[in-house]
Amino acid sequence: MRLKILQAGDPVLREPARPLDTQEIVSDTLKRLIQDMRETMYDAPGVGLAAPQVGLAIQLAVIEDRDELLRNLPTDELAAKERRSVPFQVLINPKIVRSGQKHIEFHEGCLSLAGFQAVVPRAREVAVEYLDEEGRPRSLEASGWYARIVQHEIDHLNGILYIDRMHSRSFTSLDNWNRFWKPQSAAR
Ligand code: ZN
Repeated sequence: MRLKILQAGDPVLREPARPLDTQEIVSDTLKRLIQDMRETMYDAPGVGLAAPQVGLAIQLAVIEDRDELLRNLPTDELAAKERRSVPFQVLINPKIVRSGQKHIEFHEGCLSLAGFQAVVPRAREVAVEYLDEEGRPRSLEASGWYARIVQHEIDHLNGILYIDRMHSRSFTSLDNWNRFWKPQSAAR
């Protein structure tokens, strides 16, 4: 079932989400929610979706950067952004345990700020500890665009939106991004 994606201004997007316990994680309710969030992310389409975006202040996010999304993008853009496909992944109670010193800047968007983009500096590399959908402790190391997605989704779980981190003068509508910035962003 597709869920409604809330837009900026909804208070739940600004609320720190609460961690889930093991019993909740293995429940049928959560399995169904993960399915629904996956479907909603595909449909949007997006590369990540956090539970607060569908109105639930719990520490759960789904991520996937599919080949279908990458196929339509120029190779030089993929290379510049270090964007590679990322398999479907469920992050529960995630914590960034290490953050690289190097920061990189690209335009990014958010399904909860539909129709806009801005340049957001993000760490190029992060290490994250989290629980998977079975409640097992896991860790991941991400770099490039994958690291950006992970940081964006974990921000959501802490009530943070990219507009809190963006270079505010770079904020643009999607139409104007396509018109003025897209050709440059590929070359960055
Ligand atoms: Zn977002």
